[in-house]
Amino acid sequence: MRESKRWRLAALLLILASFGAGSSGAANGCQAPIAVQVLGSGGPEAQQERASAGYLLWLEGKARVLVDLGGGSFARYGASGARFTDLDLIALTHLHADHATDLPALLKSGYFSQRSRALPIAGPTGGGDYPDLEGYLQGLFAARTGAFGYLAGYLDGSDGLVRLERRTLEADSREPILVLETDDYRIRAIGVTHGPVPALAYRIDVGDQRIVFSGDLNGDDPWFVDFAHDADLLIMDHAVPEQAGAVAARLHALPSEIAEIAKAAEVKHLVLSHLMRRSERALDDSLARIHAVYQGELSVASDLDCFGLEPRGR
Ligand SMILES: [Zn+2]
Repeated sequence: MRESKRWRLAALLLILASFGAGSSGAANGCQAPIAVQVLGSGGPEAQQERASAGYLLWLEGKARVLVDLGGGSFARYGASGARFTDLDLIALTHLHADHATDLPALLKSGYFSQRSRALPIAGPTGGGDYPDLEGYLQGLFAARTGAFGYLAGYLDGSDGLVRLERRTLEADSREPILVLETDDYRIRAIGVTHGPVPALAYRIDVGDQRIVFSGDLNGDDPWFVDFAHDADLLIMDHAVPEQAGAVAARLHALPSEIAEIAKAAEVKHLVLSHLMRRSERALDDSLARIHAVYQGELSVASDLDCFGLEPRGR
């Protein structure tokens, strides 16, 4: 092998090794006792490196909660090593395609698992162009009329499928709504403003650790700051640059608004996700704006990243 070729091969191996170190979740799940894994760090555009939105909560090596499942997240879910039998809840923030479209793929895959217990699924009430959670599920799975009516057993537990236990959450609620409480954690939701789209944010309390998923929001909600207060990890959508047009800014928080929220909520670790090409292009500018206001830890998500959490004994 020629010297230059050998050097290039060594460099390639080094790069691959560093990628492996950065995404410990691939294949074996996240190793930390409490961890959030990013399945999709992108938005609605097809991108080489980013699937659409999706996240897993891992506890002691089991993926227990799935938040959103946009296009491409299903493949990342497969890569994560998560098991359908371990899931306690699927929590949808809203019914945009880049947050919800891989649900039929996940459920069809679940058919081949050994799961026998019902599967809770949470999502928002409807409004405008958007169905509520029940309407979404009926549109997908209703016998004969649903797009995937052959999976109708997911609606009533028949045909060897597990029943989806629906929890439709009021998207206008300005007070936290209890979604699920187990021995290990508690999940609450609150309504957030995402233009005309009924939308929810979720918060998971695991012991003394607080994890918040903003979903998509435009930063206009003071109640979200209270909801996210003292979060150890806030996963926030970063879909637009500071110079976003009026339509985009009605849907998504600007970097300066993200910074103000994270600062006011005294968030320990802010993770920017849901990156689009326009937010990637302006990323340096956006990070500088956020750093100027918010002093906590700041990360930019990549697909399959794991963010481990340590109980802090407050
Ligand atoms: Zn959205």
